[in-house]
Order: sequence, then C-alpha cells, then structure tokens
Amino acid sequence: MLEVHDLTVRFGGITALDGVGFTVERGEMVGLIGPNGAGKTTLFNCLTRRYQANAGRVGYEGRDLLAEPPHAIAALGIARTFQNLGLFPRMSVRENTMVGAHHHGRAGFLTASLRLPGVRREEARLRAEADEVLERLNLTALADHPAAGLPFGTLKRVELARALAARPKLLLLDEPVNGLSHAEVDEFSGALRAIRDDLDVTVIVVEHHMGFVMGICDRVICLDFGRKIAEGPPEQVQRDPAVIEAYLGTA
Ligand code: ATP
Repeated sequence: MLEVHDLTVRFGGITALDGVGFTVERGEMVGLIGPNGAGKTTLFNCLTRRYQANAGRVGYEGRDLLAEPPHAIAALGIARTFQNLGLFPRMSVRENTMVGAHHHGRAGFLTASLRLPGVRREEARLRAEADEVLERLNLTALADHPAAGLPFGTLKRVELARALAARPKLLLLDEPVNGLSHAEVDEFSGALRAIRDDLDVTVIVVEHHMGFVMGICDRVICLDFGRKIAEGPPEQVQRDPAVIEAYLGTA
C-alpha cells in the first residue's frame, strides 16, 4: 500500500529525515517510534503533503504521492490525527466528527448547510456518517456536547472519530495515547483493534508509550536523528541494542 524510498527532509541545517525507506502492507498496524526529534511527525507531514521532501519517493496504491497536491490527500483515503488536538472547541462532538466526514474539512460548510435547503441532504449524510463512527467509539452520549470541557482522554477519541469519519484507507495516528490513563489506553487499544479488524484500515501509529505500541502493532520501525535504525516485530525491536541506546542516550 505504501512504499517510502530514501525520504529526506531538511530544515536549514537540520536533517529531519535522512534517506528513510520502508513499506507498509494493506491491513498492517505499524508502530513508528524514536526519541524526541527523531523525525516521526515530519514523516507524517510528508505523507500528508504538509512538508515538501528534499529527496526520495513515496508510492501509495501505485501513485506517486509526492506529486499529489495537499488538498488531494483526504480524497486519496489518507487521514491523520495530531499530537496537539486539532478540534474546534466550540463545536459539538458530532460537528467535529462531521468535519472529518466532509472530506475537505470546511467547517464553514456546516454553518451554511443549516441555512440552505439545497444542501440539507448532504448535511444529513455527514450526520449519519458521524453518528455511525461516534457509536463505534462509544461517544454517542456526548454527541451534542461541545468539545471544550471534555476530558483529555475523550477528546483523543473524538480526534480519532473525526479521522475515521473520512473513511480512510490509511490512518496516521500521532501520539494517540499520550497523556491517557492506563484504563484509557486499554480502551483506546481495544477500539483501534476493532477498527482495524472491521473497517479494513491500515494504520501507522507514532507513540512513545511502549506498552501500547508493543501490544498493538504488527511491526515497529524506529527512527533516530532522522534515520531508520531498526525495523521488525515488536519484541525484536524492543530488544535491539541500537533502539535501547537511542532511548537511553536521550533519557
Ligand atoms: P517528538 O517525538 O518530540 O514529537 P518527532 O520524532 O516527531 O519528535 P519531528 O517533530 O519530526 O520529531 O522533528 C524532527 C526534527 O525536525 C527536529 O529537529 C525538529 O526540530 C525539526 N523540525 C520539524 N518540523 C520543523 C519545521 N517546521 N521547521 C524547522 N524544523 C523542524
């Protein structure tokens, strides 16, 4: 599904990604780990065309992803969540999720749709799609609640709901369980497993929570200083001396 070759991204004197290459098969759940500043979020920003790569190629379902414009990403079936939640605080949980269901994510459309009868049907479709995802993530009871004021763990699930409402084929999750309690991490893991099994979604997840990554991922890739230093099954990567040193070296 995804083939990344020699991907390089520089910011002035910093090489955030340095010739990174890997592949992801359809249906896989791949963990992307590495110390702070290793280049994980930069990789997501390249895959979603927010950042321009200096070199390298990315094949996605047979297409040259780096030749696609940023606005085409959602329509190609790639959705992401953000490390710092990207929700609209005054909009309800349902409305935030509807923004995801509307592939271009234009919040203004939702307001307009309340006034223009011609687009009511479209609004009903977005609402139905959002409600389906909210039910899956156990958020139905909070559908009308504004995002502001909800517990952090709940907001993380709303962020996931919004990404899922876009019906992605490839889901990029950036630190989805950061800051969650043990119980919330367990709940999130369960939801993610069910999503992968039921919805045929391929997932790449960036996360520092090793228990979560090791428990849920089929394969783990470790970056350090922009380079891939390890890749393999979770147990193998966890024991890899280069990975241990990368983490201990920055502790
Ligand atoms: P963390 O785990 O802390 O989120 P990360 O592995 O996601 O880290 P990145 O955020 O990808 O790391 O950053 C990799 C490097 O690129 C860092 O040195 C960072 O400062 C730099 N960097 C990332 N984005 C930019 C930018 N827009 N402008 C300049 N430098 C950037």
